Amino acid sequence: MFKKILIPIDLTEVSISKPALDASMELALQSKGVLRLVTVETLLPASFMEYVPPEFDKSQEERAGHALEQISAGLVFPRDNISHTVRFGGIYVEILAEADEWGADLIVIGSHRPSMATYLIGSNAKTIVRHAKCSVLVIRA
Ligand code: ADP
Repeated sequence: MFKKILIPIDLTEVSISKPALDASMELALQSKGVLRLVTVETLLPASFMEYVPPEFDKSQEERAGHALEQISAGLVFPRDNISHTVRFGGIYVEILAEADEWGADLIVIGSHRPSMATYLIGSNAKTIVRHAKCSVLVIRA
């Protein structure tokens, strides 16, 4: 049913994406679909830029890309059917933009159990569910 599945990954908390990755692989195998991993790196405020090396963005992108590469390599899924990308900016804004640009038909998000702080659903997951043009599956860790 779903052919193009986007899985946003928080590299500081990969464990909550594990059930999302498992569910995505299962769905994609059924439909001979493809997976795409996306991680969003937050931009430093302009006033910080003079304190970081000139190549900071580039090395941040390479590090994040390498981490996604390693996650992909650990999946039992045809390698040619997985891609990944690193984006910079606001988390849900960039995830929604990637879903549009790549033409995802499903976004699968790992999410914590609800807490008092987030009430029912975390803020990224909530905003993506509300604004995505495609289907969204929230997988509880
Ligand atoms: P909660 O876990 O409290 O529900 P969120 O709403 O932030 O919190 O949902 C967590 C999910 O949001 C992660 O599993 C991941 O899919 C996505 N996410 C969070 N941070 C990032 C990031 N920097 N890059 C890509 N995806 C992210």
